[in-house]
Amino acid sequence: ATSLVWFRDDLRIRDNPALLAATADSAAAALYTLDEESEGIRPLGAAARWWLHHALEDLRSELDRLGIPLLLRRGPAAEVLTEVAAELGVAAVYWNRRYGGAERQVDAEMKQRAAEAGIHAESFQASLLHEPWRISTGQGTPYKVFTPFRKALSELGLRPPLGAPEPGQRFGGPLPHSDELDSWQLVPQRPDWAGGLRDAWTPGEAAGHELLEDFVDGALADYEQGRDRPAVQGTSRLSPYLRWGHVSPFQVRAAVLAREAERGSSAVRAYLGELGWREFCWHQLYHHPLLAKQNLRPEFDAFPWQRPGSGGGDGNDGGASPSVRLLAWQRGRTGVPLVDAGQRELWATGWMHNRVRMVSASFLVKNLGIDWRLGEHWFWDTLVDADPATNPASWQWVAGSGADAAPFFRIFNPLSQQAKFDPEGRYVARWVPEYGQPDYPGPIVDVKESRQAALEAYQALRGDL
Ligand code: FAD
Repeated sequence: ATSLVWFRDDLRIRDNPALLAATADSAAAALYTLDEESEGIRPLGAAARWWLHHALEDLRSELDRLGIPLLLRRGPAAEVLTEVAAELGVAAVYWNRRYGGAERQVDAEMKQRAAEAGIHAESFQASLLHEPWRISTGQGTPYKVFTPFRKALSELGLRPPLGAPEPGQRFGGPLPHSDELDSWQLVPQRPDWAGGLRDAWTPGEAAGHELLEDFVDGALADYEQGRDRPAVQGTSRLSPYLRWGHVSPFQVRAAVLAREAERGSSAVRAYLGELGWREFCWHQLYHHPLLAKQNLRPEFDAFPWQRPGSGGGDGNDGGASPSVRLLAWQRGRTGVPLVDAGQRELWATGWMHNRVRMVSASFLVKNLGIDWRLGEHWFWDTLVDADPATNPASWQWVAGSGADAAPFFRIFNPLSQQAKFDPEGRYVARWVPEYGQPDYPGPIVDVKESRQAALEAYQALRGDL
């Protein structure tokens, strides 16, 4: 009998428990479903679609070497998987788990359908170090604060990363229909805006591992300082590879720990702390499936965020209207150099440095007074690493409405952040070459006044409670 392995956010052949199970004692076929129809599934953003196209090409060639054909189908995933399983006549289907509400619904439906069809269905843990339901506070509730969450994680055991399957029985039977990848139109044609993405990234498993090796050999040693310098490559840039599952957190953790003696335990601890934040974001999504839509702290529901179209007209401080402000931020034309540099890096490469993400997000929410959900939405469309947990959790963290969030009144000053973290101005010069020239505009809002307006709005909100 044949098995079917269903790929989703785990586009790799190494450390892939579902793939190992499918190939253990039978020939296997693989399926990727592009699901834009199941209820609640968030359609991928444009930069993510670009990444996915190349990731699937890479996965296909990796699977080829193992004699496993990759089928591509579009449509509601559980329905499509049931059809393909029947067409292939498989005895078993295997997949690695996802943790969003709608995604879990699809998986539950699939288990039900498999049971009805008499097919063995089994899911595995692959993209998180710890299953979110295994970690809870003494009261049995989800964690809201990072430090005790991280402590709880550190007390749990972890499996080592797994290898790739040995080339085994090749799939021999007739293959059902597979879509042509090009027919999904994941890559932009006219205009082709993806040149900067192509220059910056090679999606795929081997490229992810190269980056990981380069990082543990190099920047890891100075990670504690280097990670805050956007002008240097002080971080691993593994986020899209983790997002798409080209590398697994088990592999990253093991590679970093293996270098602890040479690279210093505090650098390793700092890096593993960031992987811990990743887990914390998924923990939040698991417990709050509406993370991208609802404030985790409901008192923020009454905050007078600006939204283009709502109330129309000018911003409440007499400045430009919300839609003009939002567009200026998106395009990197706010007149605030570090913000503009970050937004332009994002637009060109599909990625932005973490320090700059924090500053730019804070500027949108607190200085421009715009609802964090609009910023989250823009990042969702433009980041190659956008994921349904980390992106909204980070936006809520910046806005003050999230778990273990920065207190609202702690507002980044984008000018002092620039002086501190880009002291030689190299990052700003790279992305905003006209900075300092007469054609660079003045700030779209006064940084001090808008900060004051935000604090007053927050005080009024607290007074209302
Ligand atoms: P490294 O410093 O090398 O860190 C290693 C890994 O740890 C990262 O690849 C990532 O998986 C994880 N990580 C690092 N920082 C964080 C963090 N603050 N929170 C959670 N996980 C972290 N990250 C995403 O992967 N996807 C997103 O959609 C995303 N949206 C963000 C939105 C905002 C407003 C902010 C402030 C941050 C966001 N981040 C997001 C977190 C962070 O900016 C990126 O993970 C990081 O910049 C990726 O670069 P790196 O791989 O070089 O990180």
